[in-house]
This record gives sequence, structure tokens and C-alpha cells, in this order.
Amino acid sequence: MKKIQMVDLQSQYYKIKNDVDNAVLNVMDSAAFINGPEVKSFQNELESYLEVKHVIPCANGTDALQIALMALDLKEGDEVITADFTFAATVEVIHLLKLKSVLVDVDYDTFTISTEEIKKAITPRTKAIIPVHIFGQCANMEEILKIAEEHNLYVIEDNAQAIGAQYRFSDGTQKYAGTMATVGTTSFFPSKNLGCYGDGGALFTNNDELAHRLRGIVNHGMYERYYHDEVGVNSRLDSIQAAVLRKKLPHLDTYNEARRKAADYYDEAFAGHVNILTPKRSESSTHVFHQYTLRILNGKRNELQKFLAEKEIPAMIYYPVALRKQKAYFQESNDADFVNTDKLLDQVISLPMHTELDEEQLKYITDAVLEFMG
Ligand SMILES: *Cc1c(COP(=O)(O)O)cnc(C)c1O
Repeated sequence: MKKIQMVDLQSQYYKIKNDVDNAVLNVMDSAAFINGPEVKSFQNELESYLEVKHVIPCANGTDALQIALMALDLKEGDEVITADFTFAATVEVIHLLKLKSVLVDVDYDTFTISTEEIKKAITPRTKAIIPVHIFGQCANMEEILKIAEEHNLYVIEDNAQAIGAQYRFSDGTQKYAGTMATVGTTSFFPSKNLGCYGDGGALFTNNDELAHRLRGIVNHGMYERYYHDEVGVNSRLDSIQAAVLRKKLPHLDTYNEARRKAADYYDEAFAGHVNILTPKRSESSTHVFHQYTLRILNGKRNELQKFLAEKEIPAMIYYPVALRKQKAYFQESNDADFVNTDKLLDQVISLPMHTELDEEQLKYITDAVLEFMG
């Protein structure tokens, strides 16, 4: 059996090696390393894939979030509501810009931000909401967009984990994750669903004016060469990464399908087990399984992780600490308001999830989990 990895980037690469190698060598040959034609082509191809008017490439997913917030002209102390249970980048950029993060609980079944808790957290200083499409499934966007409209708030979708997922509104319209709100962001970190071979990221918007602003901010606040109208950043997707992404984008749907197939296998193996809850699939969003995350109900999550490690099965705890309890982002809070987050911190365990898992590996993993769980 092939060695089981949390993410197997190497096997995935071997299948497209010739294609990718040639694309990268062509960039070397052209010497157009920065803002070359590959970047523009990737931008256009991603725009048509996502059916969004503007894709603005940038250096990574964290920058994308920061740039999105910079473009919204928020003032020091303005409040931004986001989930207590997510990767720290989401809240990091809020603090970097001297805005105030307001962390709220998530839904137990979907791990995404609770719309009831968003409503409770809104104050006159609230300016934006950042839902995270965590683990590959969209947050409750219909409700979030409704709340935002009622209170005149911006919505920034952190779509680092769900590129290619689709959300269905109750009127039947479907949209890609990251393209529903004021602005969406993503990351092309190698292990993400659409990963490059280094760092990369992008912003999405359907708003022409905002797109123009974002393109200026990523480029030192320049709207005309050497005229700096505002303080920007230097955040670029380089041409080599764009060339890699152009070769991988046509496979994205197949990659996400492979993840879903692995998830189906896991679901079936654990169905009905009294102490294992499989991830719930939302009715309004497809799931692209950036992670496959179980909830272990018998209090033996850590022991399970150790047992799997002994069998050379990697498994990860995403995430072990609530953001509100992190030193950097400590927020005075009443634990009673974070029941779901706190339960999840003790229960979640993510199993190997990537595009190259084969049935032999899946059987070995599920057998081991069931052996331990009884
Ligand atoms: C990965 C990730 C980011 C950050 O992306 P980078 O490209 O690593 O900067 C932001 N938010 C979430 C939810 C992520 O998973």
C-alpha cells in the first residue's frame, strides 16, 4: 500500500508532470516572471470558471483578506464579525488593520458561522461580516446576505477552503463560493483544493469600481504608473505559479469529485456509529471536502489520533484552540455563548483527504478508526 499522507501532492503532480514542467520552463524561457501573460490568462480563465466579473490575483490568501478589508475604507475600531472556529488568518488581518474582531459561535453540524450569533453580535459599529466556507462547504450565505443588507454591512467570503463549491439560493440560482458577496478571497497554498507550487491567492468581485480599487491596492496603491494615490501593498501572484495554476484549473472539478468520492467512502464506513458523527452535507451547498472532519463523541478523540499515528495514519485536529482564547486575539467572552465551538475543539479530527486516496488506503483508514472506536 502506498504510504498514507494527509495530503499527497506528489502523486497528484506526477499525473500532470509533463504539462506542468513544460509550462514552468516556458515561463523561464520568456523571463516574464512578474505580471507576465500567464497571470493575465489565469485570471481570465478563473473568471470564466467561477462566472465572476473580476479575479484579482495576489500573493496569498491572507493578503487577499487584508486587501479586501483595505478596499472597504473601514476606520480604526470598526467591528468585523467572524467565526471563532477558523484558521487564524481570517482574524489576523482584522487586527493588523486595527479593526475590532467580533468572534461568534458556529453551527455544530456545518462548522460554519452561526447566523443567529451574527445577529446578536451586530452593533452600530459593525461594518462587515467574514463568513468562512470552512472545510469545503459554504456558510449560510442566503441568510448572511440578508442580514448584511438589513444592516448595511459588507460581506467578505473567505473562500480559501471551498473553491469550486456551489451554493444554491432558495430561488434556484446557483453561484460559486467566493462570488456571492461584496468580495471573496481565496488561497492557492499547495494543499488547498486548487493549489499552486508555492504561495498564491486571489480576490473575486462583480463590482467594477471595487475591482479597480483592489487592483490598485495590490500594486502599491498605483492607478497610474508612479502615481501613488493611497497606501497599498506589494502582493503579486508570480508567473510561474500562474502557469502551474493554468494547468491545474481544468482538473479542479475532477479533483473535487475525487475528494467527494473519498468522503462518500468514509461516510458509508462510519454511518450510524453511535460515537462517530460524519460531516453534515448542507442542502444548499455542494461540498468540496477540503477536509473530512469527524466528530468523536466518546471523549477519546486524542487517543484515536494516537492510535492512528501508530498505524501510520496521519490525522489532524483542525482547530485545537478557539480564536477567542488565542494569546494574540484574546477576547473577553462568556463560554456559554460558544457552546458549539468549544464542543468541536474537543471532538473534531480530520482524516487524510486529497485527490489521490485509493480504496486500499481508505479501507485501511476506516478499518483502523472502527477498530479503535469499536
Ligand atoms: C489557508 C487559509 C487562509 C490563508 O491562506 P494563505 O494563502 O496561506 O495565506 C485563510 N483563511 C482560511 C480559512 C484558510 O484555510
